[in-house]
Amino acid sequence: MPVPAEQETDPCAVCTSDGATPANAGNFEGIAQTCPRCGEFKVAGTALAIMGQGLGAEKRAKLSGWVANQNRAGAVPMITSEVLQQIITRPLPGVA
Ligand SMILES: [Zn+2]
Repeated sequence: MPVPAEQETDPCAVCTSDGATPANAGNFEGIAQTCPRCGEFKVAGTALAIMGQGLGAEKRAKLSGWVANQNRAGAVPMITSEVLQQIITRPLPGVA
C-alpha cells in the first residue's frame, strides 16, 4: 500500500488505527509509539511478532484499553510477549 511522502504517522501496533506517531524507543529492542486512541506505549520485538500474526479485534481492544489505563496511571507501558499473553487471556471485566 503506497504511503504519501508527507505522512509522518504509522498504523498503531496495538489498535491498527492510523495516526500513531513513532517515538524514540531509545536503547530498546522494539518500537515506541504514541497513538491518539491508545496513548503512549512500547512494544518489545517478541510481542510485535505475536501481534503481527493477527490478534483479532477483541484482543486488540483489550490491549488498547490496558495501555490507556497505564497511561492514566502515569506509566508508559512496555508490551512484552508475557504481558501480551496475560492481557489477551484475561476475561473481559464484568463477565462472570
Ligand atoms: Zn492505538
